[in-house]
Amino acid sequence: MDKNFIYLTPQEQWRDIILQTPQDEREHVRRQVEVQGQACVAFFCEALLQHADVADFLEKDSIQKSLKRSLYYYLVTLFSATPDHVSRLCKIQMRLGASYARLEIPTHIVAYGFYILKKQILGLFTQDDVGSFDRSGLILYAGGMMDFAFKFIMRSYEKSFRKMVEDNEALRLVSIGQDLSFEKETQARTFFSWCMQTMRALCENSFDDLENLEDSDFGLWFTHKGRNLFNGRSEFMQIQREIESLDTQLHAIRQDGSVPERFVASLHRSIRKIVFLMESIFHNIEQIETGRDPLTKVLNRRFLDVVVQNEISFALSKNKHFSIALFDIDNFKSINDTFGHLAGDEILCFVANTITSSLRVNDYVFRYGGEEFLIVLTETDTEAARKCAERIRLAICGQPVTLRSEQQVSVSVSGGLTSLHGQTNVRTLINRADQALYTAKAQGRNRIVVGHMPQSVA
Ligand code: GH3
Ligand code: MG
Ligand code: MG
Repeated sequence: MDKNFIYLTPQEQWRDIILQTPQDEREHVRRQVEVQGQACVAFFCEALLQHADVADFLEKDSIQKSLKRSLYYYLVTLFSATPDHVSRLCKIQMRLGASYARLEIPTHIVAYGFYILKKQILGLFTQDDVGSFDRSGLILYAGGMMDFAFKFIMRSYEKSFRKMVEDNEALRLVSIGQDLSFEKETQARTFFSWCMQTMRALCENSFDDLENLEDSDFGLWFTHKGRNLFNGRSEFMQIQREIESLDTQLHAIRQDGSVPERFVASLHRSIRKIVFLMESIFHNIEQIETGRDPLTKVLNRRFLDVVVQNEISFALSKNKHFSIALFDIDNFKSINDTFGHLAGDEILCFVANTITSSLRVNDYVFRYGGEEFLIVLTETDTEAARKCAERIRLAICGQPVTLRSEQQVSVSVSGGLTSLHGQTNVRTLINRADQALYTAKAQGRNRIVVGHMPQSVA
């Protein structure tokens, strides 16, 4: 291996693996994969089905049908890559990693799957006649390609999984009604009290009374509650560094029994900085905490993915029905144009309220886009969801809405709905509802269309 390899970025390294392999060797590998890839994939699927844990994540049918086909194309694409294709290859792996994370497929299963697949692919070159080709060159190339594909998949898996966990945590904080204003008040009070105590100790030269900020009530609050609320935010890290630096200086004062000349000015600066950072961090978290659209008061998209993913997992694990519906106000642009934007806003609130009051407490309403609302119908099959969507549609178009200006406006919505049928991911489900909505619009609006059941489940 060229020594420079280790100094390249991962993407450049992958490109280098392809670049360093003669084109005819790469062609040979591609041909072999094209011809024998189906058999490799079949063996891979068999191995996966034997794995006790896999049944929890993938349905037998979907392994047999769509996985077999898509995996074969995946391998052919992987081994058809030229050096110019690397960024596309990376994107494919990143997408795969993200979807494995969404499906919560354990990493050990992903790793095992890759091991089986790699063994199969390499087997094509260890056993068969490779003609005039350098056998070890073929194996190194094919192995390198598999290793880098795996590496990029895991990179995005990790990132997506962490984000899901963070969203879940943020959602948990919202769900349990964490009282942020109380926390904000607590930290301000305890920080102020530490500042007063520190100033007094400095004025009275009673340095033994100087308490490290980290050990104060504020410090303890920050380390424990603050970490839960703000961990990962840059302000959190900055405050942490500020605390450390202050505590180091306070330690020196206690040791030396004297205050350096510029300490009070620097303390003042640090205090102002911490106050500023705390305010900005609370401001940011408050925006997340609300999770609601300010106009219509229904949920914004912040938690859409995590809510839908949680409901998919719940429905699959408990064998329950689950449906979503996407509504779009018909000809909304012309309502805005005729009655004005504020009237448009009133209509949006009317539609949101009508939807909300038509649902049960365990359902969710999201403002999905400008004049689009997505509803999540828990434990609801297609027929019940269709009835519910029809009820909403009729309630909206039943009679004209009277605006604050006393003008009357007729409003209607179109809706697309879909239900969960086997393993799928959030995006696929929402896309299905979106396609049904598109059909409803194309068929003349003011109607509900049920999305097609998937032929095979990806
Ligand atoms: P269609 O029946 O095909 O859905 O037609 P449409 O006019 O409803 O759809 P289009 O996408 O052309 O227009 C949507 C309009 O919604 C355009 C945009 O200005 C308006 N809109 C988006 N968000 C808001 C909002 O918050 N308030 C108001 N008043 N209008 C909004
Ligand atoms: Mg729209
Ligand atoms: Mg519209």
